[in-house]
Amino acid sequence: MAVQQQTVLRDAMRRLNMTRDTFANRIGVSRRALDTWLLPDGSPESRTMPEIAGRYVAEILERAPNGEEYTQRVQASIAFEGRSHLLSVDQFSRDSVEALFRVADAMQPIARRQKITRVLEGAVLANLFFEASTRTRVSFGAAFCRLGGSVCDTTGFTFSSMAKGESIYDTSRVISGYADALVVRHPEQGSVAEFARATNIPVINAGDGPGEHPSQALLDLYTIQREFSRIGKIVDGAHIAMVGDLKYGRTVHSLAKLLSLYRGLKFTLVSPRSLEMPDTILEQIARGDHVIEQTSDLRAGLEGADVVYATRIQKERFADESIEGYTPDFQINQALVNSVCGPDTLIMHPLPRDGRPGANDLATDLNHDSRLAIFRQTDNGIPVRMAIFAVLLGVEHQVQHSMRDAAWRSPAYVGPDDAVFHGID
Ligand code: ASP
Repeated sequence: MAVQQQTVLRDAMRRLNMTRDTFANRIGVSRRALDTWLLPDGSPESRTMPEIAGRYVAEILERAPNGEEYTQRVQASIAFEGRSHLLSVDQFSRDSVEALFRVADAMQPIARRQKITRVLEGAVLANLFFEASTRTRVSFGAAFCRLGGSVCDTTGFTFSSMAKGESIYDTSRVISGYADALVVRHPEQGSVAEFARATNIPVINAGDGPGEHPSQALLDLYTIQREFSRIGKIVDGAHIAMVGDLKYGRTVHSLAKLLSLYRGLKFTLVSPRSLEMPDTILEQIARGDHVIEQTSDLRAGLEGADVVYATRIQKERFADESIEGYTPDFQINQALVNSVCGPDTLIMHPLPRDGRPGANDLATDLNHDSRLAIFRQTDNGIPVRMAIFAVLLGVEHQVQHSMRDAAWRSPAYVGPDDAVFHGID
């Protein structure tokens, strides 16, 4: 089976760093035609790209700076200390992130339940979660299953032998005898690297305390790129406002570092003084040509942002510190968004959002606002995590050829409000 046209086109736009409008212009077709070529197969308005257009795209890419070299050299690779592990976004360059996204694009028909694959048939994933999780645990599990593998789970310390004093080394080594990959969430920063050093099977950091959450940052960046390409923006030069608990929020630590691989961004970091972004992360971002502003004024901080990335206060990481300054003014709701954000500002959140009364988090009154990208983010978690597994286990080149049609019927939209976004793919 040939590489899907959607994958080819998205990869071309990423490599040329073009929005859909600019790319349509470059290849001499209307934006509308390009949109129909990008729609998932099977959607009523999707169209096949004419062969001649495909050849022209390939030619443009070859002539692009480093075109040929790129095609041969940039393989998706994920390595930590020379071995297949995903522990930190520091492992990526811009090229290798984009190569991973090309693999994620190829996974879309499977994530959308149009196709199936069995490339990981027989493989077993151990999901070890020593902290609360819904999305990360279930989506890593679902991603592995959609590649044809099976999943074993353990949750919490209480039901694991760590409650009996077992070390990380022993746990990791033992599980390595049972499984082919390990996804680990643990409350201590650096702990997942310890799991990785005790095994030769791939380990993925699903959150190490306030440290990092690399797969979340990858799916966040993937979401930003896809949404931007549709609305005429590119990541270079974007204005990103990060809001909330920037001190303990591992998702913003990873995302800020990953975004800093791009050029000329403006980061507005909005938090109370007590919850500011750690200096180590600020120093790392500052190595690029980026502007960083810090404020505790939410309204002023959101002004002009292309992306508002809200976070939950990480209460589980507070000892006796008070959350000084985290007032109800920190709630991002419809009234605030309407008054300070633009018509195509993306509103993102790694979730969960605290929906209890009095919580200063992302409000639910935004649920019907198409700028709210939170469920597009969670949906993107599947193709991105499938891509991570495929690359770590070395099957990424087999997926395309192994796809078969799915036999069951699934709804056109998985969420009741998803039709609002019809045609945006
Ligand atoms: N789910 C994300 C994490 O595990 C965000 C959060 O919990 O607030 O870091």
